[in-house]
Amino acid sequence: MNSKQWIEKADKYIIKTYGRYPLVPVKGEGCYLWDADGKRYLDFLAGVAVNNLGHCHPRVVAALQKQAGELIHCSNFYHIPQQIELAELLCTHSFADRAFFCNSGAEANEAAIKLARKYSREKFGPERFEIITAISSFHGRTMATVSATGQEKVQRFFDPLLHGFKHVPFNDADALRSAVSPLTCAVMLEPIQGEGGVVIPSAEYFREVRRICDENNLILIFDEVQTGIGRTGKLFAYEHFDVTPDIMTLAKALAGGAPIGTMLAREELAESFGPGTHGSTFGGNPLVTAAALAAVQTILDEGILAHTVKMGDYLTGQLKILQEKFAFITEVRGIGLIIGAELSIPGSEIVKKALGKGLLINVAQDRVLRFVPPLIVQEQEIDEMIRILETILSEVQPA
Ligand SMILES: *Cc1c(COP(=O)(O)O)cnc(C)c1O
Repeated sequence: MNSKQWIEKADKYIIKTYGRYPLVPVKGEGCYLWDADGKRYLDFLAGVAVNNLGHCHPRVVAALQKQAGELIHCSNFYHIPQQIELAELLCTHSFADRAFFCNSGAEANEAAIKLARKYSREKFGPERFEIITAISSFHGRTMATVSATGQEKVQRFFDPLLHGFKHVPFNDADALRSAVSPLTCAVMLEPIQGEGGVVIPSAEYFREVRRICDENNLILIFDEVQTGIGRTGKLFAYEHFDVTPDIMTLAKALAGGAPIGTMLAREELAESFGPGTHGSTFGGNPLVTAAALAAVQTILDEGILAHTVKMGDYLTGQLKILQEKFAFITEVRGIGLIIGAELSIPGSEIVKKALGKGLLINVAQDRVLRFVPPLIVQEQEIDEMIRILETILSEVQPA
């Protein structure tokens, strides 16, 4: 079937929760995708910061193929070697002591919310249940994570929301301090707001957040679902900010495109989750954890973090050159390969035109073009992206 036929069938059978672009990808390799008509696209969205190793990385593919022939699923009633190895790898490279596995970012945040509440009540008393999060944050689409998310557009239609979330302005330590009450048990933040438009707070903010948490016995949860696994040029974004959380959640890029989520925690907190307290049928099954082991090991072995820093600097530099040519680009900001170009005009037309010219990018918060290419991107691919983007921007406003 060609793309048009697939889109007609989708129109008939798929629930329309997404405003999908008219693109039907059927094959991917590195930074490129091909649609059902054989047209090629340069992918600077990477499945929304999922395909950090590009599409179909040979080491991830090999791990999936091998594991699929040995054992796909067996349940968490039993011990799973690949899951154990992955937990060790993630703990060795982070502040954390233990891992819980699930299947998505929202679920990882659900686990964090549940653990924060259980631990705090046991340790500090039954009145503690409130979690403070940031305005413009994004934590997922389940009821608890929608309640945690600081965006009205995600929450509307679903009242009543889960009780016990307070939203404060991001990058504003005073606002956070004023929101703390005897009911507060935790603070949950993205180190960089991704869906919020690539918003990067100051290191001073995070030092102050940590201080507020320590003074009030609050658990600090970092949602690194988008920023984790090398996206910022370090394995985890918190490493940039000279601050250590108590719980961290990961998902998107963790298994090279296979669906996975994890919550990592310090020992003292992790102990609060005993048998029967939480679970997930598929969570960390042999297939996805084999893929994740391959993905994380590849990032660590193949110099991908250093490459991400280099390519991030190059892409940021190229975007800043465009900013000099086009007055409607008001700011270019990013760390590693999570980069936003803020516009004074809506970005959706630019994204649509890019698709027509074989380039996949995305817009967050209506006015921020978001670039989250595979971390394996090369200079020549960045040059190709910039050429296409410049052509489109020239149509918006002649240089
Ligand atoms: C994508 C994202 C989520 C939700 O992840 P899902 O896998 O879609 O549930 C949560 N938090 C952040 C920061 C994200 O970017």
